[in-house]
Amino acid sequence: MKRLTAEDLKSYDAIVCDLDGVIYRGRRVIEGNVSVLLRLQREGKVVRFLTNNSTRTPEHYVERLRSLGFAVGEGDVITSGLATGMYLKEEGISSAYVVGSPALREVLRRYGVRFSPKGAEVVVVGMDPRFNYRKLRRAASLVYSGVRFVATNPDTSLPVENGVLPGAGSMVAAISAAAGRNPDVIVGKPNPTIFRMATRDLKEKRVLFVGDRLNTDILGGNRAGLDTLLVLTGVHGLEDVERLGIIPTYYAPSLSSVLN
Ligand SMILES: [Mg+2]
Repeated sequence: MKRLTAEDLKSYDAIVCDLDGVIYRGRRVIEGNVSVLLRLQREGKVVRFLTNNSTRTPEHYVERLRSLGFAVGEGDVITSGLATGMYLKEEGISSAYVVGSPALREVLRRYGVRFSPKGAEVVVVGMDPRFNYRKLRRAASLVYSGVRFVATNPDTSLPVENGVLPGAGSMVAAISAAAGRNPDVIVGKPNPTIFRMATRDLKEKRVLFVGDRLNTDILGGNRAGLDTLLVLTGVHGLEDVERLGIIPTYYAPSLSSVLN
């Protein structure tokens, strides 16, 4: 692990970034990263974004990133929902039973997926704010009978001010427990599928993945064979690198500490 220099940063053709902890924290924009990314994009580098959140459509993030000045379009923001749609299409799957948000359904529909418990080729599970016993029973019965089990992402919870918000991983855990079987594929970080989908047209390019969390961003980027940068603007600090034993290629206090 080395501290990132301006030369290091400039040697990459494409920068793929996590959102929360890199671009913003909650409602607050992290100017020290955003200003540098805007400049790199203006200089012609590919700048792309990746999030495990499947409860928002890619368009939601496109809007928010445009409001910060980024030139982003379809395909520049890869959510775990979008990557799940790409994965299903790649696998030739067109019918699913979905436990998840309306945003997840909307994205999957674009990939030609129809929704029905009967004859479903796959059970897709994402964060579902309306999760209930009926959905648990249906999903578990399908998984138990051998239908392929795909999770959008493994995050069990998100910390919030007064406690935690249960995430997709909590719903996946309930279905796994009832069905006696773990997911066949987990698309989101730290698993390679989402990284593969985000970089599949960048094979000839040098790609740097930027994130704030070691056990999702850096672990996932490393596993996917990408160079990784830990920015200290979010969850993890340098002291966590040794504690967790997950080593990024580089670290930087923020991008503006490297280039300004
Ligand atoms: Mg993050």
